[in-house]
Amino acid sequence: MKKAAFFCIPAHGHTNPMLPVAAEMVKRGNKVRFYSFDEFKEKIEKTGAEFISCDKFLPELTNSEKEKLKKVSQTEMSIQDIRITLKMNDFLEKEFKEFQPDVVYTDSVCFWGKLNAWKFNVPMVVSTSTFAFNQMSSQYMKNSPKELADMIFGLPKITKELKTLEPFGYHVKNTLSLVQSDNDTDSIVYTSENFQPYSESFSDHYKFVGPSVFSKVLPDKTKDRSLVYISMGTVINDKPDFYSKCISALKDMEIDVIISCGNVVSPSQFGELPENIKMYPYVNQLDILSKADVFITHCGMNSVSESLYMATPMVLYPQTGEQYAVARRAKEIGAGEMLTDDSIQGIAKAVKTVLNKKDYAQAADKCSKDFRSCSGTAGAAEFIENAPNKSNGYDFLKEVNKASGKFNAVYWLIAVILIVLFGLFVTWKFVWIIGLVAGIFFYPVGKAVQKKIYKSMAAKKFNR
Ligand code: UDP
Repeated sequence: MKKAAFFCIPAHGHTNPMLPVAAEMVKRGNKVRFYSFDEFKEKIEKTGAEFISCDKFLPELTNSEKEKLKKVSQTEMSIQDIRITLKMNDFLEKEFKEFQPDVVYTDSVCFWGKLNAWKFNVPMVVSTSTFAFNQMSSQYMKNSPKELADMIFGLPKITKELKTLEPFGYHVKNTLSLVQSDNDTDSIVYTSENFQPYSESFSDHYKFVGPSVFSKVLPDKTKDRSLVYISMGTVINDKPDFYSKCISALKDMEIDVIISCGNVVSPSQFGELPENIKMYPYVNQLDILSKADVFITHCGMNSVSESLYMATPMVLYPQTGEQYAVARRAKEIGAGEMLTDDSIQGIAKAVKTVLNKKDYAQAADKCSKDFRSCSGTAGAAEFIENAPNKSNGYDFLKEVNKASGKFNAVYWLIAVILIVLFGLFVTWKFVWIIGLVAGIFFYPVGKAVQKKIYKSMAAKKFNR
C-alpha cells in the first residue's frame, strides 16, 4: 500500500482526468489524500480518496485579476499559482510531515504540488491534462499576438514573483522549468502515443494512458437524422454571436442540433428556437457524443479526446494556442476540418463537409479503437505506485538536438565566412547587413532543419 498525495488547481479540465486515477489507486488498496477545492469535494469523495479543502488559501482577486484569469492569461495564472504556493507553505509543511506521502501526483501547472514534492524530496508524477509539450510538440501551438505579448511582457513579472518563494526553500531555475515537460520527470498523459504529437521525443518517463473517460458507453450512430453537437467548453463559452450563427446555419438542414451554451449565456436569449435545435447550459457530453455525427468544438483537450473516443468527427474551432495544437493534430489524423470561415455560410459548409465525407468518421473511429486499447487508469495507477519509475536512459530528443546543433554550428560558420569575405572584398561598412540577415533567417531555417532531422532519425529509429 502506498500513500499518495494528489494536487490540482481549481479547474474542471485539470481535475476531471485525475479522478478516475484516484478511484483506481483507492481500489488497489492505496491511501489517497486529494488536496483540492470545495467545488470538487463531492466528486473527489466519490473516488474513495480523502478530500482536503484548500479554499482558504485562494487569494482574494481584484476585478482586473479576475478578468485576466477569465481570458486564460498565462502570466496571471502563474502569478496566482505562486501566491497560492506561498499561502499554503505552512499548511503543506505540516501535511507532508504528518501524512508522509510515498508519492505526489500533481497537475502539471499546479505549482504547490510540484514545488513541495521537490522540497520534501518525495517521488513525483505529473498529470498532464493537455498534450505533453516540449520544444518539438509546442511547435503545434499557434499563439495569438495577445497570447505572445502576455508571455513576453509577463515573464519579468513571473520571475520577480518566483523570487518570493526562495526564502521558503523553493528553488526554481525559471518559469519554463516549472511548466514544460522534461524527459527526466515521471509524467502521465491522457492520450495515446499515436495521438501525441512528436511522441518519439518523450522518454520512457512518459506514460500515455489514453483519454480519461468515465463512460462505458460505446458509440452508436444509428438514428433517423444526423446529430450535430456544439460546445465551446466550460471556460470561454461566452459566445452568443457564434451560437446565433450556428442556429442560422443549421436550422434548415435535415438534422438535429444540440448546443451546450454554458452558464453565462442563457438559452432564452435566443428566442424561440427552430424545431431541430435544442440548447442547454450543460449536458452529458459523453452520452451525446456517443450518438453525434459531427461535433463543433473549441478543441479543449478533453472535448476532442471524448469526441474521438466516441468516434465522432469534428469541425475544429480553436480559441487559444493550446487548443489550436489539439485541433491541428485532430485534422492531421483526418478526424476533422478547421472552421476557417465562421460566417453562417462557412459553418454550414464545414458541417456538410464533415457530415458527408465518410473519411472523417472513419479516421475518428480508428482513433477511438486506438484510445480504447490504451492502458487507462490501471496503467496510470501502476505507474504512480512504481514512482520513481526506472528508465532505459534513452533520450531521442537529445540525439536530435545534437544533430541539429551541428547544423547550427555550420550555419554560423558559413555566415562568419561570408561576413569576412564581404568585408575583405567589398566593404566592412555594411557587413552588419549580412549578420542581420543571417540572424533573421536562423530561427525559421533552424526549426525547419530540426524538423527534417527529427523525421529522418525517427524513420530510422522507430520505422515511422
Ligand atoms: N462538458 C460537459 N458538458 C457540457 C460541456 C462540457 O460534460 O455541457 C465537459 C466535457 O465533457 C469536458 C469538459 O467539460 O470533459 C470540457 O473540457 P475541455 O478540456 O474540452 O474544455 P475547457 O472547458 O477546459 O475549455
